[in-house]
Amino acid sequence: AVVVRQRMKSTSKWARAMAILKELDDKCGTPLGKLRQVADAMTVEMHAGLASEGGSKLKMLISFVDNLPTGDEHGLFYALDLGGTNFRVLRVKLGGKEGGVVQQEFDEVSIPPELMVGTSEQLFDYIAEALAKFVATESEGLHPEPNRQRELGFTFSFPVKQTSIASGTLIRWTKGFSIEDTVGGDVVAELTKAMKRKGVDMRVTALVNDTVGTLAGGRYYDGEVIAAVILGTGTNAAYVERATAIPKWHGPYPKSGEMVINMEWGNFRSSHLPITEYDIALDEESLNPGEQIYEKMISGMYLGEIVRRVLCKMAEEASLFGDTVPSKLTTPFILRTPDMSSMHHDTSPDLKVVASKLKDVLGIPNTSLKVRKVIVDICDIIASRGACLSAAGILGIIKKLGRDAPKQGENPKSVIALDGGLFEHYAKFRECMEDTLKELLGDEIAEGIVIKHSNDGSGIGAALLAASHSQYLEEDES
Ligand code: BGC
Ligand code: MG
Repeated sequence: AVVVRQRMKSTSKWARAMAILKELDDKCGTPLGKLRQVADAMTVEMHAGLASEGGSKLKMLISFVDNLPTGDEHGLFYALDLGGTNFRVLRVKLGGKEGGVVQQEFDEVSIPPELMVGTSEQLFDYIAEALAKFVATESEGLHPEPNRQRELGFTFSFPVKQTSIASGTLIRWTKGFSIEDTVGGDVVAELTKAMKRKGVDMRVTALVNDTVGTLAGGRYYDGEVIAAVILGTGTNAAYVERATAIPKWHGPYPKSGEMVINMEWGNFRSSHLPITEYDIALDEESLNPGEQIYEKMISGMYLGEIVRRVLCKMAEEASLFGDTVPSKLTTPFILRTPDMSSMHHDTSPDLKVVASKLKDVLGIPNTSLKVRKVIVDICDIIASRGACLSAAGILGIIKKLGRDAPKQGENPKSVIALDGGLFEHYAKFRECMEDTLKELLGDEIAEGIVIKHSNDGSGIGAALLAASHSQYLEEDES
């Protein structure tokens, strides 16, 4: 009798686990109709954000970049790329139309987690120190001309209200950074002060978001690049807008007639988003509650954490991992998206990658194949939802630009530069995003829309923009 009772108990627990899985799948559903609604909402918010300051959750920030690289850029330039868990410093020798990128060198430095939540001075000192070290390795062939100050393109991948091409104030931090005293201040001034303290003789000539840098880097190699999207630790997009379509811009009318807009789409939200209890809890317990809702459903910082939350619920309510909830499983952010990706891509018949990740990352040994399969399902649901939502966002941009319905006889090619670890390394995410975008566009239109990986374009892009805004350029006649 005891054995029978236990069996019944475990069957009903399994049924509970299945019910939780089914509910998750339902709530995360992204049928094409829903994705079209999300895309349309994105387009509507884009208009609203361009119309007036504060007109939308989408900031639609003016980048002050009204000219993208042409290929003529030349000279030696530095770039500093800060935006995630690592930052990169690079120097690039540009050789104009003939030479292209003649030579480049870079260094990558990880940011100690405590600096992400410390003081502004600590963070910028740390960066300036790394920059000083890097400058000290300047070789024979790769140093600036005599009597010429070094110039830097600063890729700062957070929402910044630009006040010029080379200055701007931080609106707020995202992606796990939280340093109160930086908010509202000019980040170029902060960096410049730190460089002075560390004895780096360098001037920032361009301040850009990573999406804007990626757009510039993409355009350098391909004249048909019209937008850039980052799918990495965070997510965002930038694109080339007609100046006449930016009512809130009261500055001088750009000669090109164009302006690059940093959308800050991570902060998009809409009643059409398939939000679950897990998303709500994640947001409430985050460093930035109520903000970056779209980003929290899509980007690399959060996907693994959502999966962890689902597993926690299954452990609590369906004893998925035995009678007690494994203690590591209750630690926020312990399941990183790269680990989730490894489990999701496990093709071994007995799912041994899943088994080893559960053991090594979450301290859960001895899972049954049945349980491991559930875990792969959860990864699939969460990754697919994120990928589909990002495809809908891209459709929103294409619609805003009218490139979803080209005029008769016209068939413009639109290239979208993509970068970020999620896009680069999470194959199932990338494939789902690309397939969904094609489906949303339909075969004919999809032919003209090209997704192109722009590998680390944001650093090069910042260097290119530093070059085209160099203090040594001769003044334009007009
Ligand atoms: C930031 C954006 C950035 C994106 C990708 C977001 O969290 O707000 O400025 O472009 O991450 O790095
Ligand atoms: Mg890369």
